[in-house]
Amino acid sequence: MSSRRKLIAGNWKMNKTSADSTALVTDIVAAIGRQADVDVVVCPPFTSIESAGKALEGSTVKLGAQNMHPEASGAFTGEISAGMLRALFATHVILGHSERRAYFAETDAFINKKVIAALKNQLKPILCVGETLAEREAGSTLKVVQTQLEAGLEGVSKELAATVVIAYEPVWAIGTGKVATTEQAQEVHAFIRGLLVKLFGDAIAQKVRILYGGSMKPSNAPDLLAQKDIDGGLIGGASLEARSFVELITAAAAVK
Ligand code: PEP
Repeated sequence: MSSRRKLIAGNWKMNKTSADSTALVTDIVAAIGRQADVDVVVCPPFTSIESAGKALEGSTVKLGAQNMHPEASGAFTGEISAGMLRALFATHVILGHSERRAYFAETDAFINKKVIAALKNQLKPILCVGETLAEREAGSTLKVVQTQLEAGLEGVSKELAATVVIAYEPVWAIGTGKVATTEQAQEVHAFIRGLLVKLFGDAIAQKVRILYGGSMKPSNAPDLLAQKDIDGGLIGGASLEARSFVELITAAAAVK
């Protein structure tokens, strides 16, 4: 069994009002109690971070955001800083999600600035990397992942690298119901682990959690989570209901 604790993170995307978020967190907390075997993070939309944070007080569930701006403050209409997230007791932030890359033209360089700013503010980045279907079919999956990973982590110190979480999310599997096979996922996770060894050394690379994301659900999670280098999941659709999200946490806890 790996020494890394499994991590299950829910990405709620643009779903749930503040009241809906309170209800969902309340149900999750009631179902899992203070279970200590798995790290659990919920990432509501910005407007729900405060209410979700209140609902998870006293539980082991942690709070994350789906994005942030790299600057600390200033004239960036519509944006949110790391400091603002910390003030609401967020501990994690998803950065470089493929939807941000595709619909908001986020570049590796911009994502890297966010990673650095998050770490400076004691937020743990969940850095997303992954190839499109065209890139996979062209045989460039590993090259794409390498570029995104190395650029995203540029300038990250060895001391802080172990607090970074990587999410491998093949774009063709996100929200499509098409899940990567365990072999496809493990191949890329092992490749990412190898890149982390080159960047930060073996001891740190062994500590970094690498999550799989892309149509993970209770039925396919046990096989994916049993893979040597799959340390948890970044969950979209199945994180929007307490029952499926809790089943995923239970599946992660059951991996020996
Ligand atoms: C995601 O968007 O991070 C994700 C993995 O979504 P889904 O689980 O819905 O594929």
